[in-house]
Amino acid sequence: MSTVDRSGLQALSAEATTLLRTLDSVLESWGTDAGAASMIMPPLLPVESLARLDFYENFPHQALVVSPLDLAKREPGARPAHFDPDALLPASLGLPSAACFAVYLYHEGRALPGNTTVTVLGRCFRREEGYQDLRRLIGFHMREIVAMGTREFVQQHLDRFGARIADFITALDLPFRKEAATDPFYDRGGQRALLQRLSPVKHEFVVDDLAIASLNVHRNFFGERCDISLAGEPIFTSCVAFGLERWLSVLHKRYGSWPAATEAVRNTRGEVAA
Ligand code: 5GP
Ligand code: ZN
Repeated sequence: MSTVDRSGLQALSAEATTLLRTLDSVLESWGTDAGAASMIMPPLLPVESLARLDFYENFPHQALVVSPLDLAKREPGARPAHFDPDALLPASLGLPSAACFAVYLYHEGRALPGNTTVTVLGRCFRREEGYQDLRRLIGFHMREIVAMGTREFVQQHLDRFGARIADFITALDLPFRKEAATDPFYDRGGQRALLQRLSPVKHEFVVDDLAIASLNVHRNFFGERCDISLAGEPIFTSCVAFGLERWLSVLHKRYGSWPAATEAVRNTRGEVAA
């Protein structure tokens, strides 16, 4: 990792993959210990659904969509480096930028029997102005633990996991700060961005100037947009999100090698298992 890679596309070595899996199984178990259902969501989401969640309103600059080829425009034998828009059919599927969108869409139209927690490992995709090593990628793994239910329940979820993350990062000997943050809205002067600055609904754990985990409350926005209810009222939601390649980046820097970092995570898992 001596030269800086700016492609945004990175394979993980076998040793780095072992660290990612070890770390992810710790985070997944935090969720399942708290009663979360561990699920697998689809890799793509309908553009129509993401639009309903205001994704293209708030984050059009991050959006990536998927198009089939227009076979009528195919040039046999060509080895294109890209496809022009007129060689493509309309894009009705989008790459998710966060793992929790699919969780709200999965529960669309349902009345929940009670407070509900779900954990998922998603591959998330974001168009960015620039990419750097494992710190900023076009596509990365995001583990999320998502709470759906009453206002009190979703707040307790963040309090519980906020404390747990702080203990874990401290035990891993990674200096960190926890700070209020805002989502990277396209319209930074818009109402949604302004509201977030006035009343923070996002906190990040920052290690080495890198946000490696975030705590997010959405009030009852997803409950309303996806028509998910509890006792006749739209649910509140919150999520805890971990960008796994970023954890790999800071752990590798701190411990000097993938095996040493993996060992540290394995040992620490025991220390904070409560
Ligand atoms: P958020 O939705 O809060 O922007 O992202 C959730 C988490 O995903 C962040 O706290 C961060 O850990 C991670 N994340 C965001 N962007 C990237 C990225 O470009 N690469 C990686 N590896 N992780 C990211
Ligand atoms: Zn989320």
